[in-house]
Amino acid sequence: MPLFDFRCRSCGSEFEVLVRASDLPVCPSCKSAKLEQLPSMFTVSSLEITKARVRTAKKERRRSRAYRDKVMADREVKHHD
Ligand SMILES: [Zn+2]
Repeated sequence: MPLFDFRCRSCGSEFEVLVRASDLPVCPSCKSAKLEQLPSMFTVSSLEITKARVRTAKKERRRSRAYRDKVMADREVKHHD
């Protein structure tokens, strides 16, 4: 069941509601139905963080391998000299 974040336009309180297709959510504080749906921050941010971590890890791995290759290449050159 989808969980949505809402902000009440009447009293300004923010809350999460499990929204069923049949019923409209109302503010738990003032019972107003004038609600603004907010993007689900938890879902978005945790996904972005995971992606960023994966990207960073890949970059680190690539950089260390590139460094090792460079060191090996330098040794190779010196060896042949
Ligand atoms: Zn309200």
